[in-house]
Amino acid sequence: MRLSTITHTAYVTTVVLSMITGATMLMASAALDEERAAVANRYAFDKASFELDVEIFHMTDKAREYVITGNEEYLEDYGVVAAALQDTEDRLQHMEDAGATEVELATLTEAIDQANRLTNDQRQAIKAFQSGDAETARDILFSDHYEAELDLINSDVLRFQALLDQRTATEIEQAIRASRIWKTISEIVLGLTALMFLGVLYFVLKRRILRPVSRLSDVVTRLADQDYDVDLSNFHNRDEIGDMAKAVRIFRENGLERRRLEEKLERDLKLKTVLSRMTHRMQACESKDEVADVVRLFLPAILPGCPGRLYLFEKTDNIMRQASEWLAPADSAARFGPMDCWALRRGTLHQHGADQPDMPCEHLRSAEGGPESGRERANAVSSVCVPLTAQREVIGLVYCEMPDGPAYQAHEHYIVMLAENISLSLANMGLREELQEQAMADSLTGLANRRQLEQRLGALLGDSQHTDRRVSCIMMDVDHFKMLNDTYGHDKGDDVLREIARILQSHTREDGLAFRYGGEEFVILLPGVETEDALLRAEAIRSDIAAHRFHHDGIVIDGVTASFGVSTSPDICPDTRLVTTADAALYESKANGRNRVTRGRMASSADKVA
Ligand code: GH3
Ligand code: MG
Ligand code: MG
Repeated sequence: MRLSTITHTAYVTTVVLSMITGATMLMASAALDEERAAVANRYAFDKASFELDVEIFHMTDKAREYVITGNEEYLEDYGVVAAALQDTEDRLQHMEDAGATEVELATLTEAIDQANRLTNDQRQAIKAFQSGDAETARDILFSDHYEAELDLINSDVLRFQALLDQRTATEIEQAIRASRIWKTISEIVLGLTALMFLGVLYFVLKRRILRPVSRLSDVVTRLADQDYDVDLSNFHNRDEIGDMAKAVRIFRENGLERRRLEEKLERDLKLKTVLSRMTHRMQACESKDEVADVVRLFLPAILPGCPGRLYLFEKTDNIMRQASEWLAPADSAARFGPMDCWALRRGTLHQHGADQPDMPCEHLRSAEGGPESGRERANAVSSVCVPLTAQREVIGLVYCEMPDGPAYQAHEHYIVMLAENISLSLANMGLREELQEQAMADSLTGLANRRQLEQRLGALLGDSQHTDRRVSCIMMDVDHFKMLNDTYGHDKGDDVLREIARILQSHTREDGLAFRYGGEEFVILLPGVETEDALLRAEAIRSDIAAHRFHHDGIVIDGVTASFGVSTSPDICPDTRLVTTADAALYESKANGRNRVTRGRMASSADKVA
């Protein structure tokens, strides 16, 4: 019940009780009024009856004095008293006395009649005296009969007064009793009002205000200390305290929501930090394998509880090959064709599981556990595939096994974000590699350039030292190329250089490395090839060039030949002089008439020192 309802009810009850108290007080007062009226009535009757008695005696006296003395003054006095008597009789007859008994009224009427009879006797005596019969007049007024009647009227008046006193006493007693009863009732009702008022005050203050407010205050204090485990379920008040409890409940729910958001924010922040760290590491990666390692290391921290694999697309074989895995994924094959994945087919995230019924990817079925294990897991775990793309071309795939449940719903968003980052990193790496390749390649012939020769030579010689393998080097220079340029033009010269590069590549595809050393000079490195074999290889190239018909745009260029020098480390020269020894042998070929192969010579002691 609301406090306002309680207070209104208490107010109405108090008003009703107060009205009852007022009414009973009025009743008590009315009883007292009745008592007072009874007394006043009695007094009026008393007074009038007494006057009747006195006046009749007075008239007797005046009539007797007149008939004895004959003095007219007494007659006049008699007239005055007689008028007063008449007046008293009239008053007595018209006096209201609803409660008068028949006996009282009969006694009073008897007294008045008696007075009238005496008055008649007096008037008879006066009349007799005035007609000169004084004797008769005295006989009437002084007779025993007259005296007896006079006594009778006196006794009637006394009897009437006694009756009146008796009744009045009874009425007063009744009025006093009634007044006392009403007074007692009014006191009881007043007491009840006070009790009810105090009761309501106690109930409202203690039961409905003090106790709930103190409990609510405890709750608010705990909430202020961020203790949201407080129990608000026992606040069922439908009053202002209930409203306050409702507000506190909303405050608690807001607090819980705020804490949840703060925790989420903190989680997001941590995750973003890890993500950013991962992105930085990926940007610094030198190879795709390093990127795969970074992904393997960071993914479990970013997507806890979600095992998965990173695949890279191998264009040459048209397959997706696993580059790394984390948290031991149960499904998905290590290698599969791009068409086996719905995400790669559709070019967007593909998820399938209990919550998301969709086509399962073929690469899940071909996992090592067999098709059954894939399906079994799919009931509790969703598989998520996100393609990695760069310039609208597939470069890889992120595959995750995500347990179903609300805790993992946000993960989908992170997987997509991760996929974008990995894609970006791989795409950057691809671009870098392309740029590097471009920097290392000769733009005219497509062969590796001199810079790359130095790098590869360093790597090869390092390797050969370690494994005790030899490296042969063929150095080649096109003969009279200046003349060729002069004869056919520079463009035709370029075409010849490109053609020669192709011939070199055809001879080195298996085990050699061809480089454009500069101008019309080329170098071939043959790791693990002995001098004799290198000489044979050089001779084969030489004869191919010499026999080749160079023709471009209908123009045939005949007589293109080249001179060769061959060296082998460490058989002929030390590592550091491999190229220069071959160059010296080439010089010899030129000097000896060109279009030939010359074996390099062992370095002299002087050379060795140099
Ligand atoms: P030798 O038989 O002694 O080697 O005579 P050669 O004319 O080939 O040698 P030389 O060093 O005198 O001339 C080399 C010429 O190669 C000079 C240069 O114009 C030409 N050349 C260098 N690079 C290129 C190129 O990229 N394209 C064309 N078309 N010519 C080039
Ligand atoms: Mg040259
Ligand atoms: Mg030349």
